[in-house]
Parts: sequence; C-alpha cells; structure tokens
Amino acid sequence: MQLSAIAQACLIGVLALSGQAANAVDDSAMEQARQHIAEQAKALEPTLLETRRDIHAHPELGNTEQRTAQLVATQLRALGLEVKTGVARTGVVAVLKGALPGPTVALRADMDALPVKEVADLPFASKAKGRYLDKEVDVMHACGHDAHTAILLSTAKVLSDMRERLPGTVVFYFQPAEEGPSDFIPDGKNIWGAKMMVQEGVMKSPKPDAVFGLHVWAGIPAGRIAYRPGPTLASSDDLRIRILGKQ
Ligand SMILES: [Zn+2]
Repeated sequence: MQLSAIAQACLIGVLALSGQAANAVDDSAMEQARQHIAEQAKALEPTLLETRRDIHAHPELGNTEQRTAQLVATQLRALGLEVKTGVARTGVVAVLKGALPGPTVALRADMDALPVKEVADLPFASKAKGRYLDKEVDVMHACGHDAHTAILLSTAKVLSDMRERLPGTVVFYFQPAEEGPSDFIPDGKNIWGAKMMVQEGVMKSPKPDAVFGLHVWAGIPAGRIAYRPGPTLASSDDLRIRILGKQ
C-alpha cells in the first residue's frame, strides 16, 4: 500500500503538469493521504510549471547537465534532504527518510536534452547550443525530461512535507545521459547515465525495494496513466556498418 501511495505522488505530478484534477482514485484506505497529495500537487502546479519552463529554456545534452543538476540539488537541499551530486558525472541523488517504518522506494527522472532545434515560438523556447559528436548543435528538451525533472522535484516537495506520516524511505534519482553521452567516442568507453549510476552503487545504499521511472507519453489521454514492470519505451542505440565495395 505504501508503494502505491508513493507512486501515486509521482503520478499526481504528471496530472498536475497536464492541468488535470488528480482524482482518479478509488482505494478508500488511502483516500486521506491521496486527498492530501492531490491538494498539495494542485497547490504546487504553478511552481512546477515555472521550474519546467526554466529547465526547458536551458536544456543540456547528456553528461553536461551542470545547470540542471545545480537547480535540482538546490531545490532538494531546501527541502532538508540528504543530497549527493556528481553521481555518474552530473547525476543527483537525494534520500528522504519517513518517520514511520516501511519499504524503500526509488523514483527516477532523467535530466538530459536532445540535439534538436526548437521551432516553437514560446517565451521559454530553447535557444541553447551544445556539442554533440564533436559538432555544434541546437539543443532542446524534445523528449520531456524537463517535465520529468520538474515533476520529481515537486514530488520530493510533497513527500517531504508528509515526512512525519511517511512510512519508509524514498530515494530520488535524477539521472544524466538517458539519451546517451553527448561526447560519444567511437569505440570509446561510452556509458549511459543509468548504467553508470548503478555501477557507482546508487542502488546499494539505500537499496530500493522498487523503482518507478517516469516518462510523459503523448499517446495517453491527459489525466490517465499507464504502467508496466520491466523495460519499456524505445531506446536509441548506435550501430556502425562498414561497407567495402568492389567495382
Ligand atoms: Zn525521454
């Protein structure tokens, strides 16, 4: 039950971002906590949007998420959480210890942007540049990681405020380089953010009983969520083929 409550906090963040009322709840035992979470998420919506637009206007490619990581760490420290920076280069990990005994649940958001040019005419549109495969490129949060980061920060805020009645521990993973390292070197030692975080031992202490990764998805109606255990979504990988021709 605790797991579902904590997961719901993450999901309510999704609902808040999409401007939906977070009321898709039917479990009476958790109703009170859910009500509280829903109210808090609603109240946090303007801050969440502001944070998301700030991150959107300042996108950073994989392994260069310094500004984003600093913003994340500053907000997490303000909540009084234990915060570790420089994980897998630019990742951030924070731990929230609830006052009641319970499981350890990890919630994960990714922070990196893509080598894509933003064409939208919005006040918070990206004008950022970065280096990708040794070329200067336009950079944009074209995969929603700005939303994920802002949602997880808001979730951390909601759950921190519930610390006194929170059963268990919540770990927040802010992962770099989900789309891969921007300084990809052919035949080099290229490590994607999640793998590097795991190699650095973030899942050893505290060891999570469950991890919830979050991704916005345009194909799902606003106010709905979808989930599945195990791997999900696409992954872009690199493939090199050398063709030797003969005339
Ligand atoms: Zn993505």
